[in-house]
Amino acid sequence: MKVLVPVKRVIDYNIRPRVKADGSGVDLVNVKMSMNPFDEIALEEAVRLREKGQASEVIAVSIGPAKAQDTLRTALAMGADRAILIVVETEVEPLAVAKLLKAVADEEQPGVVILGKQAIDDDCNQTGQMLAALMGRPQGTFASAVSVAGDRVEVTREVDGGLETVSLALPAVITADLRLNEPRYASLPNIMKARSKPLAQKTPADYRVDITPRLTTLKVAEPPVRAAGVVLDSVDALVAKLKELGISA
Ligand code: AMP
Repeated sequence: MKVLVPVKRVIDYNIRPRVKADGSGVDLVNVKMSMNPFDEIALEEAVRLREKGQASEVIAVSIGPAKAQDTLRTALAMGADRAILIVVETEVEPLAVAKLLKAVADEEQPGVVILGKQAIDDDCNQTGQMLAALMGRPQGTFASAVSVAGDRVEVTREVDGGLETVSLALPAVITADLRLNEPRYASLPNIMKARSKPLAQKTPADYRVDITPRLTTLKVAEPPVRAAGVVLDSVDALVAKLKELGISA
């Protein structure tokens, strides 16, 4: 069974994003980029399935600029067997990403596709669900545990108020939540080995997918700056302040 893992190149999670002066988007010039953290978790799960003998091959796929090669080399160093980069220099919306992934899945016929539950740059949380719909296959989203048995996979999902376990017929689409696992670091020997693993370059035209955006971004703005607090030295002062602000119990 092949496992397909879509990985997105996003602003590193330690970086505070800056909005462009004209409000048209986030400034990506000279900003450190990394693999989307939820995709690291998805990839780790796929590599563990192969290590347990339940998967035969792990294929990482990214849709993004030529520089997303670095992200895919990281995926290869973490344990993916080969990678596919679909080069697009503009932003691609989740629906177009899902259509491209569907085309890759049609070609590769994976038993499982494991995505991140969301990309931390657009916070869409849409691609996995759209992909499952396009493939006409079951989905187990927000996975905190995955267990493959025969032609089915059990996915424990993080839902409000607890955990829900569902059993899906393979092939299936899974999206990884934070507690699914702790991804490994790529060791130096594996980083070296990754350089010679296969990385195919494609374009959306190769898959005959139209990636024209359907949404128009009207404005991107920084969150409002919080007003400074005040330190009060007694309960009476607090009560007076609350009255002054018109806040009562
Ligand atoms: P989103 O729906 O944008 O929040 O993304 C959810 C997941 O879809 C991510 O965690 C990735 O696994 C996958 N994904 C989204 N965009 C891309 C992309 N450009 N290339 C590869 N995978 C992607």
